[in-house]
Amino acid sequence: MHWRQPEIKRTKTVCTYCGVGCSFEMWTRDRHVLKVQPVADAPANGISTCVKGKFAWDFLNDKERLTTPLIRENDRFRKASWDEALELVARRLLQIRDQHGPQSIGFIGSSKASNEEAYLTQKIARLIIGTNSVDNSSRYCQNPATKGLFRTVGYGGDAGTIDDLQKAELVIIVGSNTAENHPVIASRLKAAKKHHGQKLLVVDPRRHEMAERADLYLRIRPSTDMVWASAMSRYLFDNGYADKAFLANHVNQVDEYRQSLAPFSLEFAAKTTGLSVEELTAAAELIGNAGSVCIVWAMGITQHSHGADTSTALSNLLLVTGNYGRPGTGGYPMRGHNNVQGASDFGCLKNYYPGYESVSDESVRAKWANAWGVEPERLSLEVGSDNFEMVEHARTKQIRAMYVIGEETAFSDADTTNVHEGFTDLDFLVVQDLFLSRTAQFADVVLPGCPSVEKEGTFVNTERRIQRFYEAMAPLGDSRPDWRILTDLAARMGHDWGYTHPSQIMAEAASIATIFAGVSYERLEGWNSQLWPVKPDGESTPLLYTDGFTFPDGRAVLYPLEWQPPAEAPDEEYDLALNNGRMLEHFQSTNQSGRGGRTMSLSPDWFVEISPQLAAERDLAEGDWVKLTSRRGSLEVPVVVTDRVAGGSLFISIHQGKPGINLLTGEHHDPVVNTPAYKELAVKLEKLSRE
Ligand code: SF4
Repeated sequence: MHWRQPEIKRTKTVCTYCGVGCSFEMWTRDRHVLKVQPVADAPANGISTCVKGKFAWDFLNDKERLTTPLIRENDRFRKASWDEALELVARRLLQIRDQHGPQSIGFIGSSKASNEEAYLTQKIARLIIGTNSVDNSSRYCQNPATKGLFRTVGYGGDAGTIDDLQKAELVIIVGSNTAENHPVIASRLKAAKKHHGQKLLVVDPRRHEMAERADLYLRIRPSTDMVWASAMSRYLFDNGYADKAFLANHVNQVDEYRQSLAPFSLEFAAKTTGLSVEELTAAAELIGNAGSVCIVWAMGITQHSHGADTSTALSNLLLVTGNYGRPGTGGYPMRGHNNVQGASDFGCLKNYYPGYESVSDESVRAKWANAWGVEPERLSLEVGSDNFEMVEHARTKQIRAMYVIGEETAFSDADTTNVHEGFTDLDFLVVQDLFLSRTAQFADVVLPGCPSVEKEGTFVNTERRIQRFYEAMAPLGDSRPDWRILTDLAARMGHDWGYTHPSQIMAEAASIATIFAGVSYERLEGWNSQLWPVKPDGESTPLLYTDGFTFPDGRAVLYPLEWQPPAEAPDEEYDLALNNGRMLEHFQSTNQSGRGGRTMSLSPDWFVEISPQLAAERDLAEGDWVKLTSRRGSLEVPVVVTDRVAGGSLFISIHQGKPGINLLTGEHHDPVVNTPAYKELAVKLEKLSRE
């Protein structure tokens, strides 16, 4: 008998992990991933990928994948049909809306799901429920950066492309462990440095890989970056480096801003940041003498109680030196999840419809109501609740039900204990996910969604680049693409939108939201991509601000700021600063990257990094176990002694542990955007006995 194996299928996909947005061919046979094959046509990464994109796909066939809906009954989950589960969700959400009002329900969209799925999430929230309480995980990470850009230049996205970043004479990396968190972008910067003489300035409390490679590395005191950036601006003004012509022609509030810089002398900055005046001067001279400057930043800036202000200060610094609107210039906040940019772009935000169109603007409301075929009064003008507020409002019963898609809120949100209590207080919780996650453990109904390789859709990467991904394999078991689940749910709530393919959803979004006007699946076919804002004829905007800034008069704004110290800093009792972040081998909760062991085995256990100085002071050796205690809780970990950290600064990964680092983090947050101040964490350390 002749036996033949099925053909190898080659499918273009986009990585499901970080915001670099690497695309590649996935070679599959049935459900087996045989190979991830980089392709030179891939616009963000070419032939590069990192270890996660290449190998971290075991989760697709993991035995714990959800394959059928689950309904909680007598404190246990039982399997249910899609009909039964969706009927229950539709009935309970409408009941709660009618009984407690539209503001009693909140939605958290997924930063891993597609743009089309983000669009449907907010459409259900706004059109069917009548609330703007819809958010995504950018609340935990990049909202402060977006706010800084909104205040100063106008668009909530990176100023240019990764290609543009390579063209900068000077790249400043501040609060970003780029080599581990956005590895392919780091590779591009390493190449620019090696082959084109690009200069690199790194400012970070932790000496990570890019710090090792920097022309100048400033080991700054944690949570003081705003002072550093503002001192740079003042020095540049005072020493003739400000771009006077650019400021006169393109920027408002120059005088007010310059006056606000009065407190930020180098001496004040040295005292606050722990850097020397000489180091600060060297950095300012490097910036002032560079023909083009990009600033890359990430959670080391944003996850603080004043992350929006520090992001604003960085964008101010770029404006002072005329570093916007040219190749090799601009602000580059690095987006974390593969589609955290898209989840926000497509309206999973409490104050914006897709395309950053304000929910409080009556003319915007009229436009969306008209497009959706309802009276304007059906859509709320009231800004909704965000992730942080939803949990708080659950505690006070203002929020009665939540619908969480693909977000591990019960692990990843700060102050885990508070979040768990909020979920317990809900009348009804729906979780749509690939696994019975820690968040799903609190659910009344769990709906099995699909990962990107089991469906079609689009993602937006950190460059604002929209890319298509295609189905490499059929959904596992009875799981379904999330856009189908949401379409079916809407129909059961009386809104039969009739989508049979995600291209129809994108076409609808593009027909309404101005910045997506020319986006279409035809134009995105294969390795093609589009960068928003996209004109009606399909023309992309790779580089923003070449024709002015996104304000009515086309001029940018220098935004005055006042220095405010962190909400939590080491004191006599909690005397150490515990920094936390990602590792190359893992991604966030490890719900995906941790399955199957291939990347997990590269770094299986967590540990806390302590400095040689602290090790000597506390009589600690590598491998000793310590107890770390914050004002919220304690955890026990082994130590690694390394000069990556200095003095009383510690570092721990966010990935491992049960229940993990957020048992220690607190409720303090940035009041402007409600982003938790994960990085402002004071702890005390106690050595544990070896027995
Ligand atoms: Fe690229 Fe990021 Fe995926 Fe790595 S994790 S392959 S850098 S998109």
